[in-house]
Amino acid sequence: MADTRPNAQFRNVVGGQEVEAVEGATREILNPATGAVIATVPEGTAADVERAVEAALAAKREWNASTPGERAAVLLGIADAIDAHSDELGQLESANAGKPLEAAREEIAACSDVLRYFAGAARNLEGKAAGEYIKGYTSMVRREPIGIVAGIAPWNYPLMMAAWKLGPALAAGNVQILKPAEGTPLSLLRLAELTRDAIPAGVLNVVTGDGPSVGQALVAHPAIGLVSLTGDVRTGKAIARSAADTLKRVHLELGGKAPVVVLDDADLDQTVAAIRVAGFWNAGQDCTAGTRVIATRGVHDALLERLVPAVESLRVGDPAEGDEIEMGPVISRRQQERVLGFLERATAAGATVLTGGDGAGSASGSFVAPTVVTGVAQDSEIVQNEVFGPVVTVQRADDHEQAIAFANDSRYGLAASVFTESVGRAMDAARRLEFGCVWVNDHLTPITSEMPHGGFKESGYGKDMSMYSLEDYTQVKHVAIRIDR
Ligand code: NAD
Repeated sequence: MADTRPNAQFRNVVGGQEVEAVEGATREILNPATGAVIATVPEGTAADVERAVEAALAAKREWNASTPGERAAVLLGIADAIDAHSDELGQLESANAGKPLEAAREEIAACSDVLRYFAGAARNLEGKAAGEYIKGYTSMVRREPIGIVAGIAPWNYPLMMAAWKLGPALAAGNVQILKPAEGTPLSLLRLAELTRDAIPAGVLNVVTGDGPSVGQALVAHPAIGLVSLTGDVRTGKAIARSAADTLKRVHLELGGKAPVVVLDDADLDQTVAAIRVAGFWNAGQDCTAGTRVIATRGVHDALLERLVPAVESLRVGDPAEGDEIEMGPVISRRQQERVLGFLERATAAGATVLTGGDGAGSASGSFVAPTVVTGVAQDSEIVQNEVFGPVVTVQRADDHEQAIAFANDSRYGLAASVFTESVGRAMDAARRLEFGCVWVNDHLTPITSEMPHGGFKESGYGKDMSMYSLEDYTQVKHVAIRIDR
């Protein structure tokens, strides 16, 4: 069982030791479904970053010199620890982030899968053939670790986003400092505690704290060579600006506003079932959530007729009530107010809420009812900005051309989907949609460790998962050797 008693104490792991914050401060962690305090964690400061950098520096040389096989063995050990404690970690994630238990369990399984993928990838780095590209010299390419890499994670998939950073970082031979989001650190802290013996001391250090103190100290630290953030666009821009002072690399997985393009020939049952998941999985707090449905004229009304009852059938509640709950609360009161604020402004501007639109009748938890909105202009706030809640807008497009144009008219470029029975139209859309991922006749579910995940435009740069990610966590060196006869 997860230790979710009030005020369960969690500690950071630095240099292989469980430690309190250097300055001794703590933070209370809440369950968003009830508002209750479920744990206390250290509240770090720049001094904790300094301590973690020292531990990472002490571990760096030996870990850098480890063989891919040795790194793979450590990653497999972490994956085994996750699987052995998957129930506990799933319950912790559910209580801390308001996730339905089944969804939390799936995420924990995805964490061990991605670490197993990177264990294999560590042993399979490829590159250009060594050869005599200059007469009298043999040239070769080395892909080397960057050194100390920092990972800064968001609250929506706390352990999974940390695993997406941990896998490539360690596989490439880097040592890492991970900072979970301030409100959702429990699953990562527990994993660090569980794997203290499985990971050489100092190779993984976990430091809690908020963005302006611990996050900023990581970004500013000259000994850190790469900062990988999953978070908001504004945070990504702030980090990129600040990282420029030390010219450190940045890897940015930022927000999204994914369009779901539904063409006249789409299979409506399949489309509605996909949107019911795409828009409302994790209460819509997903960077790839299908938030902007754009339906062509011939299918728009029929789609809405089926979509509204499908959305109304979602079972919303405290995930602790049982496995039948499909959607929990949003992460906090603040997030609830933010989402409801978007809806208020949209209706004031003339939009119509077809279902949902309120706090789902709960006084204690931070719930938002699954919501469908129509009558929204392409340049309206609710179409252009990330709501990050269980809210889907539905727009009508004249034709295929206008649907693609609406889809691309966004500063975000993370994920998109198109629903059509025509292979030709699907291929055309896949080519023209300006997003890092395009799904055909599905949305959100086809994500896998072997394929890259990352954005275009203001959704950031750098890829998670796949060999592309492993490469992002390395640096390339050319070695040229004079040949003597
Ligand atoms: P956030 O940007 O507020 O916080 C993310 C992390 O950054 C937290 O750990 C936070 O403490 C830290 N942080 C905040 N300010 C910082 C600063 N100035 N310097 C250093 N660190 C700082 O984002 P969030 O609200 O936790 O997460 C939601 C966002 O994450 C959404 O925009 C969502 O789309 C995005 N997201 C993207 C992906 C992806 O793969 N592209 C995946 C999940 C979430």
